[in-house]
Amino acid sequence: MSVLLEAHDISISFGGIRAVQNLSFQIQRGEVLGLIGPNGAGKSTCINLITGVYMPDTGYITFDGTRMTEKHTIRERVHLGMGRTFQTPRPFGNMTVYDNVFTIALQQNSFAEAHAKTKEILEITDLAGNANMISAKLPIEMRKWLDLARILANNPKFIMMDEVMAGLNPNEMESSFQLIERLNQAGITILFIEHVMHAVVRVCSRVLVINEGKFLAEGEPREVLNRPEVVEAYIGGKRK
Ligand code: ADP
Ligand code: MG
Repeated sequence: MSVLLEAHDISISFGGIRAVQNLSFQIQRGEVLGLIGPNGAGKSTCINLITGVYMPDTGYITFDGTRMTEKHTIRERVHLGMGRTFQTPRPFGNMTVYDNVFTIALQQNSFAEAHAKTKEILEITDLAGNANMISAKLPIEMRKWLDLARILANNPKFIMMDEVMAGLNPNEMESSFQLIERLNQAGITILFIEHVMHAVVRVCSRVLVINEGKFLAEGEPREVLNRPEVVEAYIGGKRK
């Protein structure tokens, strides 16, 4: 494995809140890395720093060998191969599932290529049977997959998923796990932020735990989740 993304000593504060503090980590090409920690630990802020929503106050991020600077706008980072989901999926509700993906695929492809690409993406995301459905009518888990399908239309190397399992029942979760596995097998590196711990154990090869913006632990998911300092951070977080 080689390094796809590296954070070197990144920090950011909002007013007096030190959301991320001197954090360093690496994401290996091809892995599914879990990023966990109690509410307010700084997980979504990490995604915002990686995607270019914010620039860090200290430190820097490299992606695929390139050091990210102010010049790398959100859009440019998408072109370099970064994709992200949002906690609430936001596909265009009044368009069909097919058109939602096709309009994005068309931005970088000819009409015929965009059509082929859309079909391929709808297959991998299990949405082919719903291609002609108006997306607002999709059940919640399929709206989440459509969110992923739209991301795939930009050919990402790396996808960040922020609490995509929230609100899913066990069956919907199981099909989502299988989708994540298919994406990973297709060569996409994944950063998986999640509160549902059995989901983390199921999909992640490694986890990074942060608390109050700082590094807390890192390693094999099951083992790390049982470490006293990790258990304490979660219990402490719930008390607040
Ligand atoms: P998590 O995703 O782990 O729950 P966040 O990264 O959303 O945590 O937030 C970390 C801390 O930074 C929280 O205290 C949050 O309120 C604060 N924070 C995040 N973004 C902003 C912002 N844009 N302005 C002010 N505070 C923020
Ligand atoms: Mg968050």
